Amino acid sequence: MDRYGVVGNPVAHSLSPTIHAAFAAQVGETISYEKLPAPVDGFVATVERFFADGGRGLNVTLPFKQAAASWVDELCGDAVCARAVNTIEAREEKFVGHNTDGIGFVRDLTKNAGVEVTGRRVLLLGAGGAARGIVRPLVSLAPAHLTIANRTPEKAAALVKELGACEIELSACALRELQGRFDVVINATSAGLQGTGELMERSIVRGAFCYDLVYASANDPTAFCEWASAVARGVRDGLGMLVEQAAEAYFIWRGKRPSTNEVLSKLTARSL
Ligand code: NAP
Repeated sequence: MDRYGVVGNPVAHSLSPTIHAAFAAQVGETISYEKLPAPVDGFVATVERFFADGGRGLNVTLPFKQAAASWVDELCGDAVCARAVNTIEAREEKFVGHNTDGIGFVRDLTKNAGVEVTGRRVLLLGAGGAARGIVRPLVSLAPAHLTIANRTPEKAAALVKELGACEIELSACALRELQGRFDVVINATSAGLQGTGELMERSIVRGAFCYDLVYASANDPTAFCEWASAVARGVRDGLGMLVEQAAEAYFIWRGKRPSTNEVLSKLTARSL
């Protein structure tokens, strides 16, 4: 049976094994998909052991996406600019790194949630691996203006610089200096994993659609969605993105594109 898995730290909470098992059943395939916890300094050893034992592909999660980009032989698609890899594909002669976060995010935000980004004022919170993975697909939706705000402002400025000359207006700032109003606010920080939802003045998200890349556990909203929901136009957590990025990874590995609606509905209802 072909072996796949997800490597991260922590990884015990990951829904990826459930999602990939559901995809495999849907397309009539049998695969194995395991959780691979790796010590913070043990990414390379864990991954090399997995592939030496015959593994066919890996998903990569926090905090190893940039380490994965350095480890693979070749970067492909969105991973080239993001320099962050969430999907490793074992080919005959080489390991190829992909980043399916951006496509997963855009599909969930625009297709599943029906949020219009083109011509809108967009705020992206965070400048880590997840933000790097989604920022170019976001820019390609042609918002009128994109502000990137990060706790460490130098990283937001560096990301704006890397994006270079764009058709759209870009700016960077520190989270604590944020001002203004936005139509769409995307939280790509990991603050929610520490229980922090309040990242700025609440008036900044008034009337905005707020998307949190963190996804909720059980039926509780994420800290950011809970904080924003009192004044936001709408809130959505990252469960749909997780399912969409997984579907793209499945397609890369197996050449079959599973349908995501049923899997997302069941996960949302916690019946999977
Ligand atoms: P990362 O590379 O470690 O970056 C973390 C980011 O969060 C940085 O911008 C960091 O700011 C900021 N941050 C951390 N703690 C903060 C706090 N207390 N207050 C304000 N900012 C804080 O992590 P990542 O890979 O980008 O992941 C970010 C989040 O996205 C994670 O929660 C992950 O679970 C989620 N994610 C979800 C999906 C999905 O499919 N739904 C996919 C990818 C990622 P500094 O630069 O100042 O440290």
